[in-house]
Formats: sequence, structure tokens, C-alpha cells
Amino acid sequence: MKILKFGGKSLASGQAFDQVIQIIKDKTEQDTIAVVVSAIGDTTDVLEAILDLAKNQADYHTPFLAFQGKSYHQTIDLKEEFTLLQKLYEGVSLLEDYSLKIKDLILAQGEIISSKVLTHHLLQHGIQAVAVDSRHFFVTDSTFGQAQVQEDLSKAKTSIYFKGLSPQTFAVVTGFIGATEKGETTTLGRNGSNYSAALLANFLQADELQNYTHVDGIYTANPDWVKNAQKIDELHFDDANELAHFGASILHAKTILPLVESNIPLRILNTLNPKNTGTLISSRPTAAGIKSISVQSDIALIQLEGRGLLGIVGIDARIFTALAQAGISVGIISQGSSERGLGFTVEQTKASRAVEVLQKEFQAEFQSKDVDTIHLLPDVAILSIIGQDLTTFDKPYTALVKNKITPLLFHNTVTGKNISLVVRQEDAKKALHVIHGQIFGITKKINLAIFGHGLVGGTLIDQILASATAIAAKKNIALHIFAIGNSKKVWFTETGITANWRQEVAQEGVPYTIEEVISFAKEHHLENLIAIDNTASQAFIEHYIPLVQHGFDLISSNKIANTVSYDFYKTLRKELKANHKEYLYETNVGAGLPLIDTIKLLHLSGENITKIKGIFSGSLSYIFNQYSVQDKPFSTVLQEAIAKGYTEPDPREDLSGNDVGRKLLILARELDLQNELEEIQIENLIPLELQSMDTPTFLAQLEQLNPYFEKIKQALQPDTVLRYVGELSGDLQQDKGILETKLIAVPLHTALGQLQGSDSLFEIYTESYGENPIIIQGAGAGASVTARGVFGDILRLADK
Ligand code: ASP
Ligand code: MG
Repeated sequence: MKILKFGGKSLASGQAFDQVIQIIKDKTEQDTIAVVVSAIGDTTDVLEAILDLAKNQADYHTPFLAFQGKSYHQTIDLKEEFTLLQKLYEGVSLLEDYSLKIKDLILAQGEIISSKVLTHHLLQHGIQAVAVDSRHFFVTDSTFGQAQVQEDLSKAKTSIYFKGLSPQTFAVVTGFIGATEKGETTTLGRNGSNYSAALLANFLQADELQNYTHVDGIYTANPDWVKNAQKIDELHFDDANELAHFGASILHAKTILPLVESNIPLRILNTLNPKNTGTLISSRPTAAGIKSISVQSDIALIQLEGRGLLGIVGIDARIFTALAQAGISVGIISQGSSERGLGFTVEQTKASRAVEVLQKEFQAEFQSKDVDTIHLLPDVAILSIIGQDLTTFDKPYTALVKNKITPLLFHNTVTGKNISLVVRQEDAKKALHVIHGQIFGITKKINLAIFGHGLVGGTLIDQILASATAIAAKKNIALHIFAIGNSKKVWFTETGITANWRQEVAQEGVPYTIEEVISFAKEHHLENLIAIDNTASQAFIEHYIPLVQHGFDLISSNKIANTVSYDFYKTLRKELKANHKEYLYETNVGAGLPLIDTIKLLHLSGENITKIKGIFSGSLSYIFNQYSVQDKPFSTVLQEAIAKGYTEPDPREDLSGNDVGRKLLILARELDLQNELEEIQIENLIPLELQSMDTPTFLAQLEQLNPYFEKIKQALQPDTVLRYVGELSGDLQQDKGILETKLIAVPLHTALGQLQGSDSLFEIYTESYGENPIIIQGAGAGASVTARGVFGDILRLADK
């Protein structure tokens, strides 16, 4: 025999109701069954609400009429129930009060009506059902509202009652209700029909209890909150108990116990998806490591502190006795070994009462100053991770901290596997995502805000769009861009971007403050945040520190933050450290070439770097590679470089050497040198008289440059070529190094001399590599290699 239980929601809508009938029909063809029902929809709440209106002498007639008028109440004659309810409400309204006994009698009508309505429909479909009132055999004590079932007596009565039923029919039994030996109606506590069903299964020695709900089963996390939560197919009774928060009463110890006792499996099924096999809970051993995360909301944290409590015996007992007497149950408890204070959680609605109770209990200690404070922190949530112990909790925990969520309280069970964290309510959803993602190795979502959508920024966005799917498949990383902006406007998207992003940014971008970006991320519970600066804006770097303080990692191709004052450089790094955030800027020097990372690693590993020398600028590389070997005037070579897009719009920015200087400074600071931009000796290749004119005027007379460079070229020795180099030298163990940029002659056969096209080349000299430098060479400029470099930084961060 199977017991089928249908919850209120399964009976509430027409569609679900039809399914219920279909399910029952199918089951009766395979098996003998008995059905247990809850009240339809939210009937119990409605009946209770009307009761309170009656008590408060408010208008209870209107809602009561509305209740009677419900369409599912029209199909059969419910005069008996409605007349009784009418009388009871009238009485309560007259007395302006009611007892729990009256309340039970009222609420019970919900289940009585429900079993009658369902039975009627089954009969109409030619299915031989009979409505059964459980008050005939569920004998309880007289604790109204929370009655205890007398199991032995009830069992005996149940089996006699069921023997009396015609073998052609099956019972549709009221859940939730029973009666005292005197015949007074009682209820078993809210959501009690799950308990009724478990008891019935036990009494009738059923071989399975099938609990039909509105969800497919038990999940690794609430699927409404976590999209990629997975259904758990099988659970052991022991674990189910820990998961009680999920199915509330379905998995409550009290509900499970009658099943454990007779070893009856419980299957959780979905009325609207009956083909699904649901979650099976039984005594069968299951694969170890079943894990699931639940969240309890509306919790408050109370902390009692006092210097005088140290080592005094009996304080804890007094706390919990006082709370117990006030009917307040305590969740997580935490006490440090110093015993100076005790923290615990209670339901939010009970919190202020709990504080009152404790204030009263410890009145004397307050006076004697042994107790200093009773602190109440409302709006917290408890995340419980079932099946998780401390051996492998390092990753989820680190991920939490990285996402700026520090648990207020941490708790693990001594036996069994269960970890609970108390976090602020506002962090709960994000914490759930982060932990769930870590534990189940599910795709890690990286949320990106990209600033700057010009050449480099735009290319990056397109590159991300093009490879997002492959990255998700290969690395389990989902890259999600939630904001695209420049230094003036931003466009937010909840759903992520499409190939159409340029148009959307142009049409929907709005002026913004960085706080709005931060709030957007917060409101949407976005985790793993990265802000990317592909602007060339000086103003934008002001946002770096606020972003870091609010949980963003940083990536930039913008060089400014690394070359403004050493003060800012230091402060930013201090903030990064304090906030456990990273800042990557591999493209600041040599575009996508793995230069900065290499230098960082060498330096970190204690390798003594003695000198760095190289061609830092792609445009200057091209110009001198050509000019040295070709028999053309300098202006012609420069013109070609401009035409190929190798230079800045005003080529003097390249020829001034400033860009090379900035890059040199970035490398120097990587080696902990504290140089400032002004301290770099920069050779400006623009003759003085051409330095201050406007761009068009300058571009119109490039030949003016020729004599200057012609002279330099004439002085070259045979087999040497010109190169514009940056060089970092000196005693690099000191606070400051020597930083120079200069045009030099180099022998043709050296690495520098062999350079072609617009390549960059860096020679890194270290103590252990001696005279042979490490050489990093390749395309060191251009939008697409730079964007790739930024992309590399994103993946580097995502991997952490
Ligand atoms: N109808 C009752 C309630 O809502 C019992 C149940 O649904 O299990 O609490
Ligand atoms: Mg219910």
C-alpha cells in the first residue's frame, strides 16, 4: 500500500487539481492507496484571519462570504461545515475572545472540506473514493493547537477503521486533525498533515509515503534563489533530519520518526510534474557527501556580554531557562572559551521579547556591572550547509571573504557534518550563491563592469562575447558584463550583453557616479566583481579605491594609476591588501606580453634584478627599425608610421619619450623602487622649436625633423642601428633606481639590433642569469593584443 499526501498548493489551482485526480487514478490502477489531504490552498490562514477579525469585532462577514463563495466550494453541499463556522465566528464575535479549542474546531473545517471536495471529484471521474474524517481514529491529548497523538490507541483504531472500509474504495483522509477521547476536535500543529500522513503510513504499514508538493524534490539549494541548484535524488533519513528547513514539516524529525520506526521510504514529488522521480528518503545508504545548503531568514542575533561572567557557574543555564520559560527557542549558540559572553540566534519575531526576558533575569548583574550589554542584531540569516565538514571548507570560506561577506558567527556540529554561518540578511543570497558555486563546482560567475569602450575596450568586449561560451565549457567560468561605461556615462544590464551592445550603450547610457555602479552590484547580489579600466582618463582612477573598498578587483590598461604619485601608488596597494582584492595591469607595459607577471614573479621569488632594458614603444620601434636601414628621410618613415596607425594622433606624444618613461616607472615600482615620474631622464626627440606648436601645424612640417635625425644617422658606426630604449639600472636594492629613456646606437647582431616591425623587446638582467638576460619579445602594441592582455588578466583573476 502507498500513502499519497497532497499539500494545500496541490489542491489550490484548477490545473493542479486535475493533475491530482490523474495521479490518483494512475496509482489506483497499480496499487492500493490511501490519500491524505491538507486544506485547499491557504484555507487555514484564511480561517484563522477571519477568526481574529471576529474576535476584534471587525467585519468578518465579508471575508467569510468570500471564502464560502470560492468556486471549489460550489461543487458539493458544504452546508454543515459553513453553518458550524458561521455559528462559531458569531460566538467569538460576541465574546470578543476564543479558546484554542474553538480555534482548532474552526481550522479543522479546512481539511474536512478538502477531503469532501476531492472525494466528490474523484467519484465524478468514476474513481471509488470515500471521504474519511481522521477524528474517528486519531486520538490525541487535549493540547489544542499542538495535540499529541496517542499512538498505540490510534493505531489500533485506525486498523479497525480501515478494515471496515469496502475493499473497492480507498480513503481520502483529512490531515492535520484528530480528536480527544471525549471527542473534542484537535489539530496537530500547523502543517500537521505531513505528520498525519507519516502516522497513517506507520499505522497501516504502507510501503511508501509519497508526499506531493509543488517542487520536484529536495535541492542542493533553493532553486528560486540559485538557478543551477541540483535536485538530490536520494537521501538517508539521517540527513533528511538536518534538511528540515527545506521542506519545513515534511522533513521535520517528528514527521520522519514514524517512517524511520517502520522503515517506510518517503518520496517527495511534484504534483505538476508527476513523471519526475523526486527525492527518495529512506534507510538505504546513500553516496557519502550529500550536500545541501539552506537559508533561514528573519533571524536575530543576541549577544550577552559581561566582564563579571568569567568562570561563574550557572549563567548559561539561567539564560536558557529564562528563554525557555518565555517559550523562546534558541538556534545557534556560541560561547568563547573566555566565557565573557554568549551569542545566540532566535526568530526575529521573538527577539525583543528575548532581550526583555534577559534584562529582567540579569537585573542584579546589570546593577553590579557584571553584565554590560545585551546586544540585539536584527535581520540576519542562517546558512546551513548539510553534509559539509571543516576538512574541505577552506575554499567556500575564502570565496566568501573575497566577496566581502564575513560571517557574524560560525558553527559546526561535533558529530555529523553540518556547518552553519550567520550572515546579514542582505548578504544571504550572495553568500548562498558563492558557497553553492564553490561546493558544487558549478560555473563560477564573474561579474564585470567595463569602463572605456573605445578601441581597446570595445575590442575586449567583443572578444569576451566571442569566447564566453568556450570559457564556460572549458573552465566553468561564466563571464557576465553588467555595466559598460566610459568616464561620463554608463549602461547597466541585468541579463548580460549581446552583440548589439554598442547601440544599447549609445542609446541607454546615463551619467553616473561610481556609487551607483557599486549599488547596482549590491542590489543584484553580484559576486566576484571586477572593474576594468580601459579609459585613458586621469579622473577615473579616483574611483579605484571606492571600488576596491566595495569588493571589486581591478584590471586596467590605463597606465595613470601606476604613474601618478608614489603616494597614491602605495595607498591603493594598502587598500587592496586590506580588502583582499587584486589589481592586475599586465597590458600597462608591452601590451599583452607576459612582462609584468614575469617581473613580479622573479622579484617575489627573491631573484635580484639588476637591470631592465628594452624597446618599450611599438611606434618608436617601428620608426627606428625602418629609419636605421632604409634610405629614406625621417619624415617619410614617420608619415608611414602615422598612416599605419602606429602612432598617437599627435606623434610627438611618442617621440617625446613620455610614454616610454611611464612604462619604465611602472616596472621600477614593481621592483619596490619609489621613483616619481619627474625623476626619469627622458630624451625628447622633438627639437625645441617644434615642441609647442599645435598638432596640425606640426604635422604640416614634418620635414623640419629631418636634419636632426640625419645628423644622428650620419654619426652611426658601420653595422650599428638606432634604437629608442628605456633603461632601469643602478643599485636596485636601494629606494630609487636610475631611469632613463634615450636614443642609442646598438650593434646590428644583438637582440635589440635584430628587432623588426613594431615589436617590443625587453631584456631582464638578473644576478643568477648573469650576462645573459631573459628576453621577452613580441607585438607590444595594438588594440587587439592589448585587449587580449586585459582578457588574460580577467582569466587570471577568475582562476583565483
Ligand atoms: N492546513 C494546515 C496548515 O496549513 C495543515 C497542513 O497544511 O499541513 O497548517
Ligand atoms: Mg498548508
